[in-house]
Amino acid sequence: MSRFLNERLAAFSAYVPGEQPKNASLIKLNTNESPFPPSPMVMEAVNKLQVERLRLYSDLSATDLIQALSEDLDVGKDMLITGNGSDEILYFAMLAFGGSGARFPDITYGFYPVWAELIGIPFEAKPLRDDFSVDPEDYAGNDRMVVLANPNAPTGIAMPRAGIEQILQANPDRVVLIDEAYVDFGGESALPLVDKYENLLVARTFSKSRQMAGARLGFAVGQPALIQDLDKMRFAINPYNVNSLTQIAGAASVRDPEYFRWTRDRVINARDYTSAELTKLGFVVLPSCANFVFAKPCNIGARDYVQALRARNILVRWFDKDRIRDYARISIGSMEQMRALIDATAEIVGG
Ligand SMILES: *Cc1c(COP(=O)(O)O)cnc(C)c1O
Repeated sequence: MSRFLNERLAAFSAYVPGEQPKNASLIKLNTNESPFPPSPMVMEAVNKLQVERLRLYSDLSATDLIQALSEDLDVGKDMLITGNGSDEILYFAMLAFGGSGARFPDITYGFYPVWAELIGIPFEAKPLRDDFSVDPEDYAGNDRMVVLANPNAPTGIAMPRAGIEQILQANPDRVVLIDEAYVDFGGESALPLVDKYENLLVARTFSKSRQMAGARLGFAVGQPALIQDLDKMRFAINPYNVNSLTQIAGAASVRDPEYFRWTRDRVINARDYTSAELTKLGFVVLPSCANFVFAKPCNIGARDYVQALRARNILVRWFDKDRIRDYARISIGSMEQMRALIDATAEIVGG
């Protein structure tokens, strides 16, 4: 730390991303990326001409991308905003709507408390139930913004839409932000509720189900007034937040629903295989609606298990955090990668 750092930030701890190793021969199951490349239509769309056009600033309104999303999701163009990853959108949202503070679960995406601290808003972490599900009642009688990942991370557990609706109704004067980073893998989206609830904001990303983590693209859906507020944040921080190649790639991805479904279904199949095999080996596996499983090894501690996998060139994630220290988060890769994981696991736990 230099002596020039803002004093307010001296004790502040930033987010710690999963390891991004240089060694490409590792089986990388630690940051919930897709094992597949982007759609062939993305490869075609991002061509030499588009690279030449990088000399110009990107389209401030992301016109074509917003158009593609609007058609795909059947929502108005004025109900959409795109961001540099959904991380940026979530940050804008907490900045814009977290004035009275924020409430989210104790076990959830590690970035929420980081943003709250950075922005300087009070936050409250509500304990999940013992089975790691969210109790909608915990978000009633609340005077703060609500932030929920659904399906939740790193548990993979999804809340039915009725639970979300209950929370929306209990918080008519606060924004309820639903982070749907993983919803494509089996959750129930809150999108059908956006017309009905002016306090609902839904965030999505191209990083998990659209093979574009490196492109940095996310978006939010909400009623126009909410989107305008987010836009205000964007124009206060980084108006050209989505670069032109990413805009083009994103639109092409959205316009290839067949590839989207094909890749999604392969991930879901590999997830179900992984859950079943880990369970056979004696693991406790939480019911996942995401592209990862959260699993508690048997015969060995989670930390040792993760290290033993690392020694076999397989990378998964372990969180040194109360209540979840006994679990490993395993991203779902290709069937081949998941077979390698299961073989290594059997070796480690003596299955
Ligand atoms: C991965 C993830 C994000 C961030 O996605 P980006 O679009 O890559 O910024 C947001 N929320 C949750 C819960 C995630 O797991």
